[in-house]
Order: sequence, then C-alpha cells, then structure tokens
Amino acid sequence: MILLDRVSKQYDKKTNKAALERINLHVEAKEFVVIVGPSGAGKSTLLKLLTREEKPTSGKIIVGGIDYEKLRDKDVPYLRRKIGVVFQDFKLLETRTVFENVAFALEIVGMSGKEIRHTVPKVLDIVGLRGKENNLPPELSGGERQRVAIARAIVRQPKILIADEPTGNLDPKHAWDVIRVLEKINQYGTTVLLTTHNTEIVNKLKRRVVTIQGGKLSSDKARSDYHGKQAVVR
Ligand code: ADP
Repeated sequence: MILLDRVSKQYDKKTNKAALERINLHVEAKEFVVIVGPSGAGKSTLLKLLTREEKPTSGKIIVGGIDYEKLRDKDVPYLRRKIGVVFQDFKLLETRTVFENVAFALEIVGMSGKEIRHTVPKVLDIVGLRGKENNLPPELSGGERQRVAIARAIVRQPKILIADEPTGNLDPKHAWDVIRVLEKINQYGTTVLLTTHNTEIVNKLKRRVVTIQGGKLSSDKARSDYHGKQAVVR
C-alpha cells in the first residue's frame, strides 16, 4: 500500500543537512501506524512526501500502486483523493456549519446535492457528531472540532488517513475521543498514519510504532512490544 525505498529529502541543497535520510518503510493496507520522534525529526516531511506537497530528493515512493516518479502534476488531485489528511489545528471553515464543512469536500468534486445530503450524515455518525450538523465550529469543543476535520477527511472514502498531531491541542479526554474515532475508521478498512508526541497514547494504543530521529528511521516496532523505549533496529 505504502512503500518508501531509500527516500531522502534535503530542503536546502547548500547545506549537508537532510530532513530525511534513506528511509525504508512498508505499510500494508489497513495497518495503523504511529509515527513518533522529537520535534524536527522529519515526521511532517515524511507525511508531506506522501501527500506530494513535497518531492523527495532521491528514493522511490509508491502509494496504492502509484509510482510518484511517474506521477504528473495533473494527476496529483487524483492521488489526494486516496489520502485524507487531518492536522493539529483543524483548519475548519469557521463561518460554515458542521454539515457545510464536511459537504464542501464533496461539492468540490462535483457530487450532487442529493448525494451529499445522503453521505454527510453517515460520516457524522461515524465520528459521533450527529445532532451537531447546524453548529458552527466556534460552538464546538476542541475534540468535536477535530472530529469534524476527520469527517471531512474521510467523506470521500480515502484509502489512507494521515493524522498529523491530531490530539496536539486537546485535553486527554478529547484526545482519546479522537483516537477512538481513528481506530474505528481503521477497523472499517482505512490505513491510518498517526503522528503524536503523547507517549500515553502510543503505549496504550499497542500499534506498530515507527520512530524517526534526526531524519533517520531509528526503530520500527510491531504492536504490543512497545513500552515507550526507543530500541534501535539493527
Ligand atoms: P517534525 O515534523 O518531526 O517536527 P519536520 O519534518 O517538520 O520535523 O522537519 C525536519 C527538518 O526539516 C527540520 O530540520 C526542519 O527545520 C526542516 N524543514 C522542514 N520543512 C522545511 C522547509 N519547508 N524548508 C526548509 N527546511 C525545512
């Protein structure tokens, strides 16, 4: 599903410092992978390479059978439909209702009003926001706002959901509400990539944990054997 083969990214060619160095990563369809690492390690860069916001300096990236080397600029919107993205700061339209925020993602791909009215409530159900359709984002809690952002990210049924620090602005209870929603979406068959600084979430989730440090993949540990220690893979 996701394959990175010796992927490097150097933003500034004048310095020797690479944001990512020879990353090898293979993520199967329907996996839930937690990506951890200190600030500046290269996590966001990795996610931006997957969404094609950035291009690698070298290495191969294949996502859902699409080889990024062969991807033309005009095909990027097609790629992005396969990948939903959620950010720490929600990025909602503040003057639009919950329903409109989610519907917007369907309007821009030309879905009919009838289909939209059918689809949006189903997605709001998944994220636990039925009854909040007509609320504006400022009327919601942080956790609810993040769940609107998740609804918007999954409404076009992407194969992959990227959640970049989605709980960074939330208190523990709301953070767990958001994590539970991500788990539910994963159970429905979507591959989830989550970055977080929250070690409690990392430990309790018992999912595969990939650690990036100084642009290098320093550890890749499957499921429940992760105890918050960063063992280095040989
Ligand atoms: P993380 O998400 O783990 O905090 P980033 O991927 O944002 O790390 O950053 C990795 C490194 O790349 C850092 O040294 C950062 O300063 C650098 N970097 C990130 N984005 C850019 C950019 N657009 N231009 C130049 N350097 C960048």
